[in-house]
Amino acid sequence: MSRKRLVRRILHLILIGLLSVSCSKSNGSSEVSNEELDRNWEQYTIFKQGNIPLLLISVHGGDIEPDFIEDRTCSQAVTVKDLHTLEITQGIESELVKLGYQPYVVINKLHRKKIDLNRSVSNATCGNPITSEYWQLFHDQIKAYRSEIETKFSTGLVLDVHGHSHEVQRIELGYLLSATDLRQENETLNEVAYKNKSSIRHLTENSTGLQLSDYLNGAQSFGQLFEERGYPSVPSLSDRAPKEGEAYWSGGYNTQEYGSRYSGDVDAIQVELNMTNVRNNASNRSRFTRYCAEVILSYLETHY
Ligand SMILES: [Zn+2]
Repeated sequence: MSRKRLVRRILHLILIGLLSVSCSKSNGSSEVSNEELDRNWEQYTIFKQGNIPLLLISVHGGDIEPDFIEDRTCSQAVTVKDLHTLEITQGIESELVKLGYQPYVVINKLHRKKIDLNRSVSNATCGNPITSEYWQLFHDQIKAYRSEIETKFSTGLVLDVHGHSHEVQRIELGYLLSATDLRQENETLNEVAYKNKSSIRHLTENSTGLQLSDYLNGAQSFGQLFEERGYPSVPSLSDRAPKEGEAYWSGGYNTQEYGSRYSGDVDAIQVELNMTNVRNNASNRSRFTRYCAEVILSYLETHY
């Protein structure tokens, strides 16, 4: 199904939801033009085509809560918003644009109470048919951009931007390797099993002499680029792994699906931002987005 047809189908479902609320009060016409439907849809997403091999995803920073979508109440439904991650993702984009680079962007603006787009469809929507269609559209757009990046640039990077509330104030980078995995000696980490498990499998197979440990905790690792700019990060050269007992997010659904663990030549990293000095006030957010754009460009230039 084309994107346009899918959008219309979803909007009709949303409209049915709205009409079922309003019909009890009115016998009036239910005609709504396609333009109006398309406008409604755009309230909930930001999709942008890019000109560099980078796709930014943000799914937990939205705060729109339409009444016609029921709150998620199924067991294991996490409904907490990742504060300021939507505006930080947009900030990173605009810093890159200032430097002449447009990343691909896929942003959700609905609140996590309504949908969790870093989960499989059943957990994401708790079985709600309206948001199940929305989930499909959202992920189809990510897939379309990811495959466009592969076609145009042959390889690329997906960054899924989140915010954590763990005690240790540092950026947590998720490569689908657990804290226990990251605590292994580099020699062990460079065994094929870890490479195949990681979301940057493609990068490790196509590098010139670098091994998985170099990408995780080496001088040119993504984490170390943040460290050098004053943002503590794990894993990195300065902090190679969370200690036993320390909380750490290793990467969720989007990192699994859109990195190179299972297939393809596009890698992914989950970027979990801490609060202090990063998200906690407007000037910190603005400074962070500038440095983050620098880190991303440096990483892309070195490795992609
Ligand atoms: Zn999140």
